[in-house]
Amino acid sequence: MNLEQVDVLVIGAGPAGTVAASIVNKAGYKVKIVEKQQFPRFVIGESLLPRCMEALTEAGFVDAVKERGFQEKFGAKFVKNGKVCDYFSADQFTDGWNWTWQVPRAEFDKILADTVEKMGVPVCYQHTVTNIVFNGSSSVTTVEDIDGNVTQIEAKFIIDGSGYGRVIPRLFNLDKPSTLPPRKALFTHIVDTKRSMDDEPNRITIVVHQPGIWVWIIPFSNGITSVGFVGNPDFFKKYEGTDEEVLRSLMASEPYISERMAGADFAFAPRTLESWSSTTDKFYGEGFVLTGNVTEFLDPIFSSGVTLATVSSQTAAHLVIRKLKGESIDWEKEYMEPVMQGVNVFKSYVNAWYDGTLDTIFFADKSVYEIKQMICSVLAGYVWDLENPYVKNHTTALQKLARIIALDERLNNAPA
Ligand SMILES: Cc1cc2nc3c(=O)[nH]c(=O)nc-3n(C[C@H](O)[C@H](O)[C@H](O)COP(=O)(O)OP(=O)(O)OC[C@H]3O[C@@H](n4cnc5c(N)ncnc54)[C@H](O)[C@@H]3O)c2cc1C
Repeated sequence: MNLEQVDVLVIGAGPAGTVAASIVNKAGYKVKIVEKQQFPRFVIGESLLPRCMEALTEAGFVDAVKERGFQEKFGAKFVKNGKVCDYFSADQFTDGWNWTWQVPRAEFDKILADTVEKMGVPVCYQHTVTNIVFNGSSSVTTVEDIDGNVTQIEAKFIIDGSGYGRVIPRLFNLDKPSTLPPRKALFTHIVDTKRSMDDEPNRITIVVHQPGIWVWIIPFSNGITSVGFVGNPDFFKKYEGTDEEVLRSLMASEPYISERMAGADFAFAPRTLESWSSTTDKFYGEGFVLTGNVTEFLDPIFSSGVTLATVSSQTAAHLVIRKLKGESIDWEKEYMEPVMQGVNVFKSYVNAWYDGTLDTIFFADKSVYEIKQMICSVLAGYVWDLENPYVKNHTTALQKLARIIALDERLNNAPA
């Protein structure tokens, strides 16, 4: 059996794995990525947030992504019964990036993986991690390739960016259910011949279909648009037929898209995903750190996945470098707390979306520009800016605002 030695083994070549690998590699360490699938591979998660551009910049990926000419994204539009609430990232409270991209992830992830490979990090596709044995903080990982050949990799540290694969939590029984209720998504890519070029494609659209049920519309620069319905799994049970028949019925039943999407060709048979939220108590241990989706993926509503994946990886990479230099790291304070800060802010917004609080705020008759700027920052992924009251007080600020709006609307609509 082959035995290889590296400083850092990265599991998974998604955005989490490649960002971490690039930063550690730049610091002069020997890094290797093992990836279960062959790229390009399909993965959902196509609407990025401006905040992830900071991590992509440090990883050295932005120029390569720019060259591909992906659709630039400047905000998000929320629609309900003919009412529209537009958020443009340029209006945000926090200084930072005010644009990003809408990307078919198969292509985007391949660019990141190719770029990190050009920087000198080998990416071993179709290599699946099957076992890890830790000996203090060093480890021996067993990897099996598609032909059944087995290799062992000795590493001083492991960064687990295996996404839904959840390699370390599964191998060591660390998985814990999320506190969010289960949700399901049914989605495809359509050939979008009736897209309005006046109103789109410079941002994503979220349509409230029914309370708790919503639709994403993410236009790409190649004329394809990603469309998905998300909600309680029971909602989908009311519809009979194949996934394609169900998705076509749903599209026909939503006035905002029915005409545009009637008879549209699907680029692939619709797919479903459900019960994606899962977490663990600790995102680190002796000799390893979990980054990206392995830490906790919440919900697609605010496109937080790739941002949390890349920012957690960026933070972890710096800590791993310091650890390899012999510094002692307070993982709880320096990693767990900042990652949970971001996760918890998004979690409050996800809960406020599904319980109707954000509905009251987004579709209010009036809005205060300064408050909209603060919420806009969160929607752009700036969830670590404690100067922003809508970040700092994320558990209460939205509810207070919704109560004021509801009261104001009641008073204004009261008979004279
Ligand atoms: C319905 C839905 C919609 C979403 N929409 C958005 C969105 O609009 N915007 C957004 O930012 N996020 C979105 N997300 C979340 C997004 O999919 C993830 O957050 C993102 O892909 C996380 O990146 P990652 O690098 O952590 O994991 P991944 O991109 O999943 O990469 C992990 C890699 O690890 C590999 N791997 C797994 N197991 C092993 C193993 N044993 N050995 C070796 N390799 C392994 C996998 O093959 C994979 O390539 C959505 C999620 C869902 C469920």
